[in-house]
Amino acid sequence: MSDKLDLSIVVPVFNEGENVGELYNQLNVVLSRLGKTSEIIFVDDGSMDDTFKKLKAIKDSKIKIVRFQRNYGKAAALSCGFKKSRGNFVITLDGDLQDDPKEIPRFLEKLEEYDMVSGWKSKRHDPVSKTLPSKLFNALTRYITGVKIHDFNCGFKGYRNYVVKNVRLYGEFHRYIPALAHWKGYTVGEIEVEHHPRIHGKSKYGVERLLKGFLDLITVTFLNLYKKRPLHIFGGIGFLLIFSAIIINLHLVSLWLMGIKIGDRPLLMLSILITVLGAQFISLGLIGELITNSRNNDDYIIKYDSYELENDR
Ligand code: UDP
Ligand code: MG
Repeated sequence: MSDKLDLSIVVPVFNEGENVGELYNQLNVVLSRLGKTSEIIFVDDGSMDDTFKKLKAIKDSKIKIVRFQRNYGKAAALSCGFKKSRGNFVITLDGDLQDDPKEIPRFLEKLEEYDMVSGWKSKRHDPVSKTLPSKLFNALTRYITGVKIHDFNCGFKGYRNYVVKNVRLYGEFHRYIPALAHWKGYTVGEIEVEHHPRIHGKSKYGVERLLKGFLDLITVTFLNLYKKRPLHIFGGIGFLLIFSAIIINLHLVSLWLMGIKIGDRPLLMLSILITVLGAQFISLGLIGELITNSRNNDDYIIKYDSYELENDR
């Protein structure tokens, strides 16, 4: 089980029955040319089609299949693949034939210089309804995280083993792996990769999922900045609010002392109350996020696991 290999390929798949066979063929050609010891880990993220059947039909001891009980999302699938991986280098790619296995040797070359290498689909073959929001997303993520790469969301990435073992994914965090790795102190490089249009099956990621993932950017930012001392920011805001409330109250008290009536200013009090309550709720939400994030995120249920079968033998 813990035997080391040169290379692990991790492929998250959700309803890719029409693609996995061909993807395996393409991977096999590249891997045999490389002449390295390797494994291909398919994480079937609760597919409802014949993905699992198609995978089981491939007779090759390099293939490992882990099947989830239901669809948990790409981040969970990658996280599981990372945990299982035994290769010194780990490559992830999408299972829809949009990423070309021919690029794998280039990733390995670049990994001589960097701890992780992110693919950049410079000529992306997806509809504008996806590429435009994605451009905005990348620009903002670049600005906020300070990691200067073009394409955070590209599923084609390469890692040295210790990176995947030390970066924890949660929610839709697969988009932020370059940032998470950078914050841990790992070096992040980038290479341009070829991108093919999707021929079989449908994309599972529309604008809604990108927007959802976008909220994660706020969490990621706070996670990085205030992970160790959340009280330093939440407490700071709290003190500021209390301080301003004291000033306003002092003002009201002085009016009262001067004999000016303050009874007709309930709106003022109400606005203070709402401000304070609002701030409380934001802080609580963030604290909740931080606590959830420190939880073990591997709470997926595995239905089938090639590795367990290996142990039983
Ligand atoms: N995927 C997954 N779980 C999901 C959604 C997608 O494992 O809940 C896989 C999917 O099968 C594919 C990869 O993640 O291998 C990228 O998904 P997709 O091609 O739909 O995204 P896009 O390329 O359109 O952004
Ligand atoms: Mg795709």
